[in-house]
Amino acid sequence: MTDNSCNNDKVHRRTKTSWTLQSLILLKLCTILILSLLPLCCLSFVVVAPPPAATSLLPSPSSSSTSPSHPLLISSLYHPGSPGYKLLSQQYRSTLHSTISTANIDLNNDEETTTNTRKKKVIIVGAGWGGLSAAHALSNSYTSNNNIEVTVIDASSRVGGLVGDGYTSINGTRKAEAGQHGFWDNYCNIFRLLNDGDDNKNSNGKNGYGIPGLDINDVLTGYAEQGQYSPRGLEAIWPIYRNQQIKLPTGLAQAAYTRFLNLSIFDRITALPLALALSEFDGTNDEAWIRYDEISFRDLCVKLGVSRKCYEEAFEPMILTGLFAPGAECSAAAALGMSYFFVLQNQNAFDVKWCRGNVGEMIFDPWVDSMEKNGGVEFLTSTMVTGFDMDASTGRISSVRCRSKSDGASSGSSSSSGSEKYVDQTLEADEVILAVGAKALNSIVRNSPTLARFAPYRRFGNLRGTSVLATRIYLDRHIKVPYTANACWGFDEGVGMTFFDIGALHGTTTTTNNTEIGSVLEVDYYHASTLLALDDDAIVSKVKRDLDVILGQTCQSSSVIDAAVVRLPDAVNWYHPGSYKDMPEVTCNDNGGGGDGISNLYFAGDVVRTDHGSWSQEKAFVTGMEAANLIMGREKDSGILRVPQDEPHVKVGRTIVRVAREIIGKGVNGKNKSKGPSLVDFLW
Ligand SMILES: Cc1cc2nc3c(=O)[nH]c(=O)nc-3n(C[C@H](O)[C@H](O)[C@H](O)COP(=O)(O)OP(=O)(O)OC[C@H]3O[C@@H](n4cnc5c(N)ncnc54)[C@H](O)[C@@H]3O)c2cc1C
Repeated sequence: MTDNSCNNDKVHRRTKTSWTLQSLILLKLCTILILSLLPLCCLSFVVVAPPPAATSLLPSPSSSSTSPSHPLLISSLYHPGSPGYKLLSQQYRSTLHSTISTANIDLNNDEETTTNTRKKKVIIVGAGWGGLSAAHALSNSYTSNNNIEVTVIDASSRVGGLVGDGYTSINGTRKAEAGQHGFWDNYCNIFRLLNDGDDNKNSNGKNGYGIPGLDINDVLTGYAEQGQYSPRGLEAIWPIYRNQQIKLPTGLAQAAYTRFLNLSIFDRITALPLALALSEFDGTNDEAWIRYDEISFRDLCVKLGVSRKCYEEAFEPMILTGLFAPGAECSAAAALGMSYFFVLQNQNAFDVKWCRGNVGEMIFDPWVDSMEKNGGVEFLTSTMVTGFDMDASTGRISSVRCRSKSDGASSGSSSSSGSEKYVDQTLEADEVILAVGAKALNSIVRNSPTLARFAPYRRFGNLRGTSVLATRIYLDRHIKVPYTANACWGFDEGVGMTFFDIGALHGTTTTTNNTEIGSVLEVDYYHASTLLALDDDAIVSKVKRDLDVILGQTCQSSSVIDAAVVRLPDAVNWYHPGSYKDMPEVTCNDNGGGGDGISNLYFAGDVVRTDHGSWSQEKAFVTGMEAANLIMGREKDSGILRVPQDEPHVKVGRTIVRVAREIIGKGVNGKNKSKGPSLVDFLW
């Protein structure tokens, strides 16, 4: 009885369910029909712009707002592969993805929906400053949502890229780094990262900007005077500019306070016309970059009448250490941009701090640890990205192929080459960030038919790197070094050089238990291809010879007990004349190369163009945040600290030059005042 009634009930329920189902299916069919027809109807209105429905639903690509208007409606109407999606231009597709991703982020903050939504998978290739910064900005602890899964892949066994410390000394007992890295006064975003203070909260009210537990004063040294040497001896002293009693306008401050011991005032005055170029060149402006990128920095100096002595003893060493190549082979734009950020932005710009230990141990280890534990970020080291797969229907990268050195436990298909064993894996990807340098971008595109189909990416084939040799020698005794950080010139033709008292920077004492601890000195050579060919012994002998010349008797009487030799062939981005146009933007769609790129591929690192105005580590960090912001559908510069504003006299100078160009431009081009000639036109 009970069974029957139960059965009757079931039949009744089944009939009721089938009716409900039928009506639901009918309703769904109607909805699908209407939704599919809607974008098609819009076709009649479309020429270049996206359908009006999309225009009204999506924020305009140029609009500053990226908040979704109707995220669910948008995602059902314009999901990748739908007729509506195909009608959208590439630019609008990017906006669409941002919109939906923002919607997902917001929706997923609601716990009930979190479980139903597939997490967005972001693959970051490269774990240098650029990749780590992007991972940090996408991590759960920073964004306060857990709907993004981040995987960072790096070919090296340690993270850090050019700042990595996965090297050992010749004796195999000491860790070495890929050179010494300074943190200049305008590295405000990195400084914020190194401070886990209460005043360091992000827009979610969380302390997500800083690495948990870090205090900048424990990580970085204070400021100190720096020296400049040639084979003749001490040539210049850079003081701590912020400690000078009178604060002067920038330019004047550096001229007044830098102590050149052998460069006459007359030679220094010949550098004055460069102020004109600096007034015209605004590093945050694309047009200025393109104009000044046509000529080399050396040509600019020669044409402006800078004396040979001033160029060779003041500018060439600065370019060799700041841009890693001689001025004749560096773009004037890069040289002006770099020197403005590092030296001329304000009186204190050249004040620099150094890490109190290996950057890998002091900064990257706790950073990676916190991202893994609290941020939902996974790191795959010793893994090389080898290719990309594209979903033909969406035109987006759907997966990333990579090859890891096998530890015997990994999953995936394995292969071997010589004694090395490898595991090949394919990782699903919704968004991809390439955070690799110029040399790697060049080779990735050459080896990826998927990327090579796109004109903007083929331009990376023109990008180049320059070689660096980083050495560290361990002496049998403690020797006195006048300045902890030094630049040198004149030792090898066309090669830049710096040296550091690592013991002093790392704060290791000179004696332990009455046993003297020997000095540890780092000597780095830039644009150093000619030195890379030497064997380790020859390199160590050369380093010691150079230091003997600089430091004299105290060094000559010491012996080397261990050394580290780190060769970095073509590793550092080379800003050669004409290179700017080939460098990626964070989203590398129409990069002047004709045609769009892939909408879910982003770029980060110091090779990436940005209007932020920063350089090197800070620039890599900033572009990493920019890429992460775009993936999350935020403003590109959301949460990024700007470089301080130009000082008033610099603003006035820039305004005068701009107005002069406009006036001359009117004469030359009639109405088009923006086309006034640049200083470069007069010089070349
Ligand atoms: C000797 C030396 C001294 C320097 N001094 C300073 C300084 O004083 N101050 C300063 O700010 N900057 C300095 N720099 C520059 C600074 O190191 C760089 O600006 C910065 O590290 C660039 O970071 P990035 O993330 O753009 O790239 P990188 O650090 O080059 O990182 C790229 C990463 O991508 C990985 N990769 C590449 N291809 C693949 C692939 N196919 N698959 C997986 N992984 C891949 C690499 O292994 C690497 O880890 C110096 C550099 C050197 C070499």
